[in-house]
Amino acid sequence: MTNNELNPDAGFIELIKNIGGDSFDNSFKKCFQCGTCSVVCPLTHDEKPFPRKEMILTGWGLKDKLVGSLDPWLCYYCGKCSENCPRKANPAELMMSLRRWLITVYDWTGISKLLYKSKLAEFVFLFIIAIVVFFEWILLFGLFPNSGNGSLNQIIPPDKIDLFFDWPMTAILSILLISFIFNMYYKTILSDKNLKIPIKLYISELWALIFNFFTQYKYSKCENDPEPFLKKLFSGKYNYWLIHWFLMTSYVSLFVAIVFFLYWFQTDYTSDLHVFLYDYYASIGLLGGLIYFTIRRIVKKVERSKFSHHTDWTFIILLFLTALTGVILRIVIVYKVPIPWIFYLYLIHMMILMPMLIVEVPFSKWSHLAYRPVAVYLSNLRDKANLQDRDRAE
Ligand code: SF4
Ligand code: SF4
Repeated sequence: MTNNELNPDAGFIELIKNIGGDSFDNSFKKCFQCGTCSVVCPLTHDEKPFPRKEMILTGWGLKDKLVGSLDPWLCYYCGKCSENCPRKANPAELMMSLRRWLITVYDWTGISKLLYKSKLAEFVFLFIIAIVVFFEWILLFGLFPNSGNGSLNQIIPPDKIDLFFDWPMTAILSILLISFIFNMYYKTILSDKNLKIPIKLYISELWALIFNFFTQYKYSKCENDPEPFLKKLFSGKYNYWLIHWFLMTSYVSLFVAIVFFLYWFQTDYTSDLHVFLYDYYASIGLLGGLIYFTIRRIVKKVERSKFSHHTDWTFIILLFLTALTGVILRIVIVYKVPIPWIFYLYLIHMMILMPMLIVEVPFSKWSHLAYRPVAVYLSNLRDKANLQDRDRAE
């Protein structure tokens, strides 16, 4: 097929409808291409602006034209397009559905497709991993701890947790995520034969990847009123960005701590200020952030919180339970509760944490954390390479 041939897929509309949030229907077919959504979008670009073109491509079932698109990732779901759409065609949720679909496109295992389509499949995957963790734990530490046998670090040595849980999990996640991101790179950049990106550009644009990962800066751009930064900050217009950032950094820092500094967290460290502050930061960030986003999803007052997919809820619940059992675990360690209590609580914590990480990070919601900054980076590369080509031609 040449690039100009159209190859409609009748099943694509149904697929996108089904992986939209609850109550998302095929209202995107009502779009009459007025272009209002692209005009009000604070993040779209001038050439081939989104989300208008995504509306028509999806409505016509032209999925081949969307496979190589980075635009769904450049949308940060501010909701302005849906608020202003005269046809109530829900372009913002359409962009969200396209992001879910693109995750299934990059994922060569087919697991994300199953998770998005079926609640039962998601539950089965989570359950299987929880059971594997349970039996691994029994094999390593037994089912009945000997409470007279010393400290927690002797009964559950951190190096064993690292060796048999944390590091294999990190290796699996890394292999999956790197291969999915390579697939994204292949479909969006490498498969475009007309696009030649100089090596120099790959290096000089790396800052965009790092900067956007650590700051989630694009969320702040959702607020495009011409007011000074501080005014917007104090009037709460940056709350979503800042709380999301707090949640994300808490999550990442806790992940790093668990994988590399587990020994700290299995010990009563109340005298170590840096560990104490680190733990507080991550616990408040996770629990506070999750409560904030859960309330928004329940209240459904703003556009970006109106639709929730079942994977969104699973992720929120699992992350909340992980954080909660983690905090309780810290408390019982610090207050030297009898070892059997700590032992079983630790097991429950692991049976929630490991499935949450292995299923949600590569295959579901949390993969946005990786795909979004990569998309900004690849989009910059593409735009700048095209610009250089045009300059040379002139
Ligand atoms: S989605 Fe709505 S605002 Fe956008 S082009 Fe279609 S009808 Fe117009
Ligand atoms: S949700 Fe916001 S960022 Fe996304 S397409 Fe609509 S207006 Fe643009």
